[in-house]
Amino acid sequence: MSWEEMSTAKHPCPCGKSTYTITDRMDDWNRTDSSMHMDCEACRSNYVIFSENSYRSSLPSIVQFWISERTQAEYVRLLNEAKTSRQKAKEIKSNRYLSKWKNLFEGKNKKQAWVTLTNNGARYPALGTFYQHTKTEGVEAYLVRHFENADDRTFAEIMTTLEIDDVEVFGLIELAKQLECDAHDLVWRERVP
Ligand SMILES: [Zn+2]
Repeated sequence: MSWEEMSTAKHPCPCGKSTYTITDRMDDWNRTDSSMHMDCEACRSNYVIFSENSYRSSLPSIVQFWISERTQAEYVRLLNEAKTSRQKAKEIKSNRYLSKWKNLFEGKNKKQAWVTLTNNGARYPALGTFYQHTKTEGVEAYLVRHFENADDRTFAEIMTTLEIDDVEVFGLIELAKQLECDAHDLVWRERVP
């Protein structure tokens, strides 16, 4: 597998006194790859590459740009704060609701458990998938995993199934989402160029 350099282009660096270089390469399979290099020594000590997966076009690609180290520090701080908030929400929800969740399925056979879990097939997983997954690990282990690994949407469904609204947990999750949004907005607002 070899990469061939297709083009290089120089652009003005953030301080304007020098440049950075974008190099585009292609491999034998026509896959493309783009890399950035900071030519300016002053900017090299102040700016870092930020990259993010982009799903805007049909093919997933990576978007790259420069952000200042100060912006990066703020970005990391916001994400850490979001992580703390999610961690707190996770602890509270396990403490308060995991046993309630398990109780909900007590005395139910597999089919009945599936009906409760998916609101009679309205949600993932399909019955066949549920049977397959629970065959090896058992229903209880599956349900615990489903609860512990729940993403925001699945957790909201679990709470609906339990008929519980917990403003504290949902507040922490909302806060985390907001912080993640803020972090994302920040780097895009402060991006160079
Ligand atoms: Zn510069």
